[in-house]
Amino acid sequence: MEAQRTLRRPISCVGIGLHSGCKVNLSLKPAGPDYGIRFRRTDMGNFEVPATVSNLAGIQLATGLARDQVSVETVEHLLAAIVSMGVDNVVVELNSPEVPIMDGSAAPFIYLIQEAGVKRQPKGRKYLKIVRPIALSRGDKRIAIYPSEHFKVTYSVSYDHPLLRHQSRTLRVTEESFVEEIAPARTFTFLKDVEMLRQNGLALGGSLENAVVLGETGVLNNALRFEDEFVRHKILDAVGDVALVGYPVIGHLVAHRARHSLHTEFAAKILEETQAWRLIEETIDALPVPVAVPVAVKSAATL
Ligand SMILES: [Zn+2]
Repeated sequence: MEAQRTLRRPISCVGIGLHSGCKVNLSLKPAGPDYGIRFRRTDMGNFEVPATVSNLAGIQLATGLARDQVSVETVEHLLAAIVSMGVDNVVVELNSPEVPIMDGSAAPFIYLIQEAGVKRQPKGRKYLKIVRPIALSRGDKRIAIYPSEHFKVTYSVSYDHPLLRHQSRTLRVTEESFVEEIAPARTFTFLKDVEMLRQNGLALGGSLENAVVLGETGVLNNALRFEDEFVRHKILDAVGDVALVGYPVIGHLVAHRARHSLHTEFAAKILEETQAWRLIEETIDALPVPVAVPVAVKSAATL
């Protein structure tokens, strides 16, 4: 039986919200078995918002949650890091409505979790195992999940931009593969959209320090971390959004040109399609032993 896991000790960092531009303190704290992942607003009387599809709200450029009008924004990169590190139970304390963007990737959150350490708990973990395909499409945007022995993601993107005509990648998501191949991939935006975002009061904390910005012919940042950093970041987003299902998923997720709105609508659809999955509690090899922190992740975390 694979045990549930939480952090060994609390850990904190400070950053800014990508859209709000506000400074925010983030703390990750250990939690008991079956607690799940819950955001706690310390500036709102420690009100808790569990990271589940039932609390989805305001999905546009990032994934937001809300309960009783208390909101938490831009949760997806942190959620992707938490679930990919095999952490089931954690309190995420914030003193502002938005999770800090850090360097635009999940690498700083991976670094925090590795610093805190992860420990097993005396309770078995449940997995949501897909036994029949589930699919959802909106125009040319598609997402589906198929039965598989492991959690795998295939993502493809295509944009009207010379660097991004087409990128596609398939990855079996394990702690090791996520840390090395996905976590460092940064969020991206198009220069032509930045002004529009700002006029709408969004991306106020955005800069070349926390996003890859695509100009007419290339990136404004000095370098990409991977040649296909864009599609890797889409996999990161999908892992974080699908985490709102509330259980680790065993299945092959396939997405084309999807966005947060489709990822999260799909997470809700998975839970609704109760004939297409089973909850299981058994040993699988989805969680390998912890790996050493790659140098690239360490340096990214210090940005
Ligand atoms: Zn993202």
